[in-house]
Amino acid sequence: MPVSIFDLFTIGIGPSSSHTVGPMRAARRFVANLDSAQLALLRRIRVELFGSLAATGPGHGTPKAVVLGLVGEEPETVDPDVADQIAEEVRRRRMLPVLRTWRIEFDEQRDLVLRPRDRLPAHPNGMRFTAYGDEDRLLVAAVYYSIGGGFVVEGGGARIDDTQGSLPYPFRSARELLDICDRQCCDIASVVLANELVRHSREEVEAYIRRIAAAMNECIDRGCATEGELPGILHVRRRAADLCRRLQEAPPAPGSFHDMEWVMAWALAVNEENAAGRRVVTAPTNGAAGVVPAVLRYYTTFVPGADDDGVRRFLLTATAIGSLCKENASISGAEVGCQGEIGSACAMAAGGLAAALGATPAQVENAAEIGLEHNLGLTCDPVAGLVQIPCIERNGLAAVKAIAAARLALRGDGRHRVSLDQAIATMRDIGRDMKTKYKETSRGGLAATVSVDLTEC
Ligand code: SF4
Repeated sequence: MPVSIFDLFTIGIGPSSSHTVGPMRAARRFVANLDSAQLALLRRIRVELFGSLAATGPGHGTPKAVVLGLVGEEPETVDPDVADQIAEEVRRRRMLPVLRTWRIEFDEQRDLVLRPRDRLPAHPNGMRFTAYGDEDRLLVAAVYYSIGGGFVVEGGGARIDDTQGSLPYPFRSARELLDICDRQCCDIASVVLANELVRHSREEVEAYIRRIAAAMNECIDRGCATEGELPGILHVRRRAADLCRRLQEAPPAPGSFHDMEWVMAWALAVNEENAAGRRVVTAPTNGAAGVVPAVLRYYTTFVPGADDDGVRRFLLTATAIGSLCKENASISGAEVGCQGEIGSACAMAAGGLAAALGATPAQVENAAEIGLEHNLGLTCDPVAGLVQIPCIERNGLAAVKAIAAARLALRGDGRHRVSLDQAIATMRDIGRDMKTKYKETSRGGLAATVSVDLTEC
């Protein structure tokens, strides 16, 4: 079933949708599901993080996110300026205000357990929450999986927030989507919009698109205005602000890469904000959150005649492509490597831009396929478990690649040899064959060859 724009693009905080946003949602969901009798008896909560969540969780802010969720915070509304303080207060006092109402003892060393070598059956990003009463009497336990992009499933079952009714134009593949466009004589954005109208009014969908686009632009602007060092032992210096300043001072020269340098600066700006734990739009993940906003800003800044309708077509079309990647492969770096995050984002941005530029559905499909194909095999190997190296630059390069993919597809007539469905199936198969060390564990690739003095942690 196609994923809604309200689920694929969500506003949250960095640095990771699967390791920060998802665990925060799961923790909040667990305590919100406790009934009043259980809350009255509650004395202790134990959280176990498995697999990738445990391997790179500390660098990705997972323990902090879990604590915030137990306190009752949500990714969409938590104030990034006070998030650290809340988690630190819980740590210092060893006291957890569950949903800000019931106070229980919480010793992070004892009650938040990392199990990087163990894996729960359904997904590498597993969590188990257990609530105890007096004398450690079991009250209730639940397993959740953070399956990428901030999506959470409970115990391997259906998506928690899956409220989809029957859609007028369901599609499971790009082929089916193109057939619908052919039959209805419409573009991909119109198909996505018609499906959204089952659950929302047109005004709600359009307001949400404006909100997402505005949040993306605000994130770019904040990142372009913020200097300094990113958190963590790598001491990575922010570069977006300096890059923007230099581009403003030096007007475009013949043969320069001026427009694309701006695109890279905008993508860097978003991912620096993400790495700093600030507010970003998950698109379709946080690690890959810079690609779509940077390409959308390219459209509104450099394309003559760009307008709100183009922005609308861009984001609705990108939703269809992200949905196909998620439903037929994965958008989780822990499941299929970075191809699922950066590759999917590049395909979404390429297809979205092509649509905004007036491409036919076949050209859009071609653009998305090119965007994905040339990210196949990309591993997830964040150095020191931080979403910084190679993640930040990788967004800049993928944004430029997405624009090239859209432009290349627009030069053709939509006919091409490799279909988007085949590229997505290839991503799924490569992900299955990829060694675990290249799937958000920080045990392979750059994470293994770039030496980091962990004693500085
Ligand atoms: S390497 Fe890619 S998938 Fe892995 S954390 Fe970085 S952006 Fe996400």
